[in-house]
Amino acid sequence: MEQNTRSIREQTSRSAEREHSVPIFMTSSFVFESAEQARALFAEEQQGNIYTRFSNPNTDEFVRKMAMLENLDDGFATASGMSAIFTSMAALLKSGDHVVCARSVFGSTHQILTQIFPRWGIEFTYVDIADQYNWEKAFKANTRMLFLETPSNPSLDIIDLEHVGKICKARGVLLNVDNCFCTPVLQRPADFGADIVIHSATKYIDGQGRALGGIILARKDLMKDIRFFARHTGPALSPFNAWIFSKSLETLELRMQRHSENALNLAQALSKNAEIEKVIYPFLPDHPGYALAKKQMKSGGGIVTLIVKGGINRGRKFLDSLKMLSHTANLGDTRTIATHPASTTHSKLSDQERAQVGILPGMVRISAGLENTHDILADIEQALNASR
Ligand SMILES: *Cc1c(COP(=O)(O)O)cnc(C)c1O
Repeated sequence: MEQNTRSIREQTSRSAEREHSVPIFMTSSFVFESAEQARALFAEEQQGNIYTRFSNPNTDEFVRKMAMLENLDDGFATASGMSAIFTSMAALLKSGDHVVCARSVFGSTHQILTQIFPRWGIEFTYVDIADQYNWEKAFKANTRMLFLETPSNPSLDIIDLEHVGKICKARGVLLNVDNCFCTPVLQRPADFGADIVIHSATKYIDGQGRALGGIILARKDLMKDIRFFARHTGPALSPFNAWIFSKSLETLELRMQRHSENALNLAQALSKNAEIEKVIYPFLPDHPGYALAKKQMKSGGGIVTLIVKGGINRGRKFLDSLKMLSHTANLGDTRTIATHPASTTHSKLSDQERAQVGILPGMVRISAGLENTHDILADIEQALNASR
């Protein structure tokens, strides 16, 4: 069966009511049929649900579908994308370990590496996109993990997954990829050697801006440590949110195709607009990572980054002039969203740190929704004119 078909048809269970859509198992715990069963479940001699912090039929269904889509053995669903990132690192790292990280990572990932892990004796080294064929310079004897995002947020840098996969394998370093911007529909990091893939399910996996969640997918041998850590520290996802995400996977392929189509159309049309200094989109031939993107991604994804002429003031006026687009910090919604990274998602970085990850004052991130391209474009064009 094709993957898309499986993510539509795979279902955890059907009750005596014969419901077509899977029910929501809103329960904290599960009843033991006997004292012996309780003992065997706790001793892990028998597989089965005990308590929703450990497992639940809705989260299991979501995990099973995602592991299948990402081509990894197993996973653990978490309450947010950040808890997935934190858990995937904290479960596998110890004091004295070193992490190599691509410099363009999500703002809160940057805070974990710079503010939290150093207190626990875990060090890191950033690698700039310009040095992406020199990862080894950052490696130390105690390097245990390499973490990256591609395309990065919001500068849309493309990292060569095949290259980094080979280096990590040769050096025995775990490769952990935040695949949030692509979803497994557009890019499968495990096919290039990733050992761990994490997602913020809040974005394209939900796809409708309703629920916060995340997931860690990994090889079986790593899952043992990840599951132990998660089971005892408690980042578990709510069954209700897992139900939302699992249902959303039924439309993920269709949605990602439409998001990408809209984003490409916007990128092409806005490249010709005199009010815009630059359009960044991985599937535009002038993007520095175009050839790589074509190689490792099925389409360009739903995010287009614009650099509006006139810097920060014009950028802010542009956002205030939008009529249909939503001005909010989320992405990956059915509704097209505009965000100003310098004053919102990346405001906690210094000017120098922002410059290092390519965030310019006039940069506006557009998350192309599922509306008709013509309507999205019309709103962007009227806002560009109104903010002149
Ligand atoms: C949003 C996001 C996260 C964090 O996810 P939450 O669900 O908000 O905790 C991590 N990585 C990327 C690339 C994101 O866009």
